[in-house]
Amino acid sequence: VVEIRGLEKSFGDLDVLKDVNLELYKGENLVVLGKSGSGKSVLIKIMVGLLKQDSGSMNVLGREISTLKTKELNELRLRIGFSFQNSALYDSMTVRENMEFPLVRNVKNLSKKEITMKIEGLLDSVGLPQSINQMPSELSGGQKKRIGVARTLILEPEIMLYDEPTAGLDPITCGELNALINQVKDEYNTSSIVITHDLTCAKDTGDRVAVLLDGEFNAVGTFEEIFPNAEDPRIKSFYDYNF
Ligand code: ATP
Ligand code: MG
Repeated sequence: VVEIRGLEKSFGDLDVLKDVNLELYKGENLVVLGKSGSGKSVLIKIMVGLLKQDSGSMNVLGREISTLKTKELNELRLRIGFSFQNSALYDSMTVRENMEFPLVRNVKNLSKKEITMKIEGLLDSVGLPQSINQMPSELSGGQKKRIGVARTLILEPEIMLYDEPTAGLDPITCGELNALINQVKDEYNTSSIVITHDLTCAKDTGDRVAVLLDGEFNAVGTFEEIFPNAEDPRIKSFYDYNF
């Protein structure tokens, strides 16, 4: 569903992405690892058209992103769920209003009842049915992340992009969020890219893992193929830090 070939992106003298090649297959969770500043967020911003590559190709759901007009890009974006590095709920809105917002904006012809049923169903599946009338300020960090995922799912995306979904969470809440990411894959048959620094998250959610090092993906494969017997010291150091 995503195919990236020879992708390059620089900011001035800084060559962030040098020769990126990667595929996301239908129905898989692909974990992207790479140290801070390696260009992970830049890569998914190019994927949703928030940034433009300098050269190379980024094909998403059969469309070459850099060639799309604004209207086509907006249509494509509706098929991609983007869960930001912070959960980005609207603080002045209840959970229900937060979840209604993308629906009312993008999907016409839904009755009040249909909207409520959709919201209740998703809150059930992220395990927070009782929070529908709460304000974000009344929720814990982990609960906000779950609501953020539920809100992203409301438009039934074919691709989910999670940018550091477990950052700042305790290990138990991380585990719950990892389970949620797997549940989303199974229940909604989405294809997902999960950006993380957390090797437990990589191990538990990644059908495949890809390591971004010096502007390229040097290692792509299952967790067991890449770790723990990595010979490349840069990859080894990832593992040693975490376990
Ligand atoms: P982290 O793990 O800390 O989130 P990351 O891998 O997501 O890191 P990116 O946000 O992709 O890192 O940034 C990669 C590099 O590109 C950084 O050096 C950053 O300063 C630079 N960069 C990102 N966006 C821009 C921009 N719009 N203009 C200039 N430089 C940018
Ligand atoms: Mg980032």
